[in-house]
Amino acid sequence: MDKKHPFCRKERELKFIFFVGVPYNIGMKKFTFLLLSTFCVVTSAFSLCVREISNAEMPVSGTETTFHVVVDAGHGGMDGGVTGKTSGVKESDLNLSIAYRLKDELEDAGFLVTMTRKTEFGICEAGETWSKKRDMQQRKKQIRESNPSLVVSIHQNRYSLPSVRGGQVFYKKGSDSGKSLAVQVQERLNRLYQKEDVNPRNATPSSYYLLECTDAPSIIVECGFLSSPADEGLLLKNGFQEELALSIFSGIMGYYSEIYGS
Ligand SMILES: [Zn+2]
Repeated sequence: MDKKHPFCRKERELKFIFFVGVPYNIGMKKFTFLLLSTFCVVTSAFSLCVREISNAEMPVSGTETTFHVVVDAGHGGMDGGVTGKTSGVKESDLNLSIAYRLKDELEDAGFLVTMTRKTEFGICEAGETWSKKRDMQQRKKQIRESNPSLVVSIHQNRYSLPSVRGGQVFYKKGSDSGKSLAVQVQERLNRLYQKEDVNPRNATPSSYYLLECTDAPSIIVECGFLSSPADEGLLLKNGFQEELALSIFSGIMGYYSEIYGS
């Protein structure tokens, strides 16, 4: 698992331009040129970006509330989840890799992060034999004990048709805050997959167990379809995993911006 960031601090801040629809992976020279040639547009973009950043960095210290995000890497151990048709990659491994990338993004922005699963193994108490039921109960227990601001569970999808592709976000049925968060993340995933000519999807209500663990907004992010060789090829790439993590992070920031922004 490569946890190294591809961005230096300065470039990481520039990536927030993503929020206003300008590609975020531009270098400093190109950015300077853009800044000079489209001053007005970029100035307004920066004001939006700064608001996004300040919202994210708001929760850091002292008596202020700290935003606590639970990042749940789905499956693990004996439960590998979906398997990639072409490479045989296990969903559980991809989930963990993307979850760690998301954790890094969130922590860099000042969020407190709890990972339900930190290793390739499933979750169970010391001395207990692993079972899917106990694994899920442990995740629920961790989520409840964390008293999180929000929960993001990372998964990979599958479907009978290999042509079906893209990211899909689920939220708890009846949860307005869950829906707001899901819509923000779904929008970023659609943008990411649009580059691959994949049709956009809508955030979808669901009653998955993991969405029911807390009243805090909770989403399941299906990052792509392992039943699609095209998606599988992308999901195996470090660069794409990083883009996925950034898209989810950006969606979380968009959600907080919607709540606290003017
Ligand atoms: Zn899964």
